[in-house]
Amino acid sequence: MPKTLTTPYFWDCNCETDFIHSKTEKRCSICHAKSHEQPDSRVDEVLPLIDPKTLTKKAFYGSNDRLMAEIQNRNGYLFDGRWFPANGISLDQCLATVNSMTVEELIPFL
Ligand SMILES: [Zn+2]
Repeated sequence: MPKTLTTPYFWDCNCETDFIHSKTEKRCSICHAKSHEQPDSRVDEVLPLIDPKTLTKKAFYGSNDRLMAEIQNRNGYLFDGRWFPANGISLDQCLATVNSMTVEELIPFL
């Protein structure tokens, strides 16, 4: 039997539905499972939750600063031997950047 691929960025609680939580959440508010006592989530169950448009809007409107920093960095420019992240990029540019990222690259920013 092939090994099931899991991701260290998500965990499963004991609920019947909506049981996938980001590791930034330490506890499920419904079943009270704790992240450190629960298994990592399966990658194939996490993937459908990844919607580029939703992720991009969260980053753009300030509720995912880490992803926004990554987007700005990817749109940056080299000047005098130093890399500068881009400022003031549009929502469309943000979406194009998120769409250009692979799922493996996106998962750490969810
Ligand atoms: Zn739960």
